[in-house]
Amino acid sequence: MKKGYFGEFGGQFVPELLIPPLRELEKACEEIIPTKEYQEELDDLLRTFAGRPTPLTRCDALSKKLGFTLWLKREDLLHTGAHKMNNTLGQCLLAKYMGKTAVLAETGAGQHGVATCAAAAKLGLGCTIYMGATDVERQAPNVSRMKLLGATVFPVSSGTSTLKDAINEALRAWIVNQDTTLYCFGTAAGPHPYPTLVRNLQSVIGEEIKAEMLKRMGKLPDAVVACVGGGSNAIGAFYPFASDEKSASVRLIGVEAGGTGEPGCYNSAPINLGSPGVLHGELVMLLQNRDGQIEPSHSVSAGLDYPGVGPEHCYYAKIGRVDYGVAVDREALNAFRTLCLEEGIIPALESSHALAYVLEHPDRFAKGSDVVVNLSGRGDKDMDIIREHLDIL
Ligand SMILES: *Cc1c(COP(=O)(O)O)cnc(C)c1O
Repeated sequence: MKKGYFGEFGGQFVPELLIPPLRELEKACEEIIPTKEYQEELDDLLRTFAGRPTPLTRCDALSKKLGFTLWLKREDLLHTGAHKMNNTLGQCLLAKYMGKTAVLAETGAGQHGVATCAAAAKLGLGCTIYMGATDVERQAPNVSRMKLLGATVFPVSSGTSTLKDAINEALRAWIVNQDTTLYCFGTAAGPHPYPTLVRNLQSVIGEEIKAEMLKRMGKLPDAVVACVGGGSNAIGAFYPFASDEKSASVRLIGVEAGGTGEPGCYNSAPINLGSPGVLHGELVMLLQNRDGQIEPSHSVSAGLDYPGVGPEHCYYAKIGRVDYGVAVDREALNAFRTLCLEEGIIPALESSHALAYVLEHPDRFAKGSDVVVNLSGRGDKDMDIIREHLDIL
């Protein structure tokens, strides 16, 4: 495959001024990441700072009802509450090895922002976060966390004042500050080499799923299910299976957020509903109108509200290695409630979409099989939204 491409998807569709910092990053990915020093230091940070490895929890009550064994990969137990930390530690450590003194990042709901600030503080790097002005208001607790962790939060008021505008602004800021600063990108999307870099850093999720299932059950799982926003937790869970011939029998299922519609009648979901187009430097499946203008996505979970999806998912969808389903808001909220009551775990609303797919379609999984859902994060951050939707609170 052409470098930086996954089939026809991916690439580096950026203004000329962004080519030098992207080249420098590509070179660092090739020359620094494989070294023993970098790998050992990252491994140590993941274990002693972030809390890896995360466990696989068997859901006994739900498994009994479903007729197959449901396992949760507990990324919700990671420091700052989601899988994001795998990526931010990797990129911030890379920045340090590259001789940079600061990082900058975009954030939507604030989860990637918080994880970047925590990693930057730990590693002694300066940190600036670009966040849509609308999101700054909607996500006040995460803005406070970022400031506590020493970051400057820069509200972006162009366009719709949300995530896609924050990314554009962060890319512009990177051009100006490239000598001192690395852009720590939040998902497995954006211009090459980010989709590959982020996927490699998140693949620890799938590697651990594989190793622990082999250890505890003596077999690989029959299916792995994960929610897809930009696509980083899902590609991290899938890649060690998708790239391994011996794992060809493992079904991989990505779940997109369908938004406010009725089940089966959704209005979001770029892989299921979108068409190819260029956004943030890559050719991917996008929600866009006939003039190529980006259509905003709508989901109860802010972390899945991205109008595109990373290029490797577009490729796996095209070749049929991964199936992409959809869960709408109501299904995700039901799954959220079910997991709280049945298993004593409060999941993130994003992760609840992956769970919803399994709970809504148990007939799609064989009796007696082992199904792993990647619980990408915890739900503490979602209490305000939950309060709006569930009248028990
Ligand atoms: C950010 C986030 C997501 C969505 O991002 P991906 O890159 O698609 O993984 C999913 N779950 C949680 C908990 C998140 O914080």
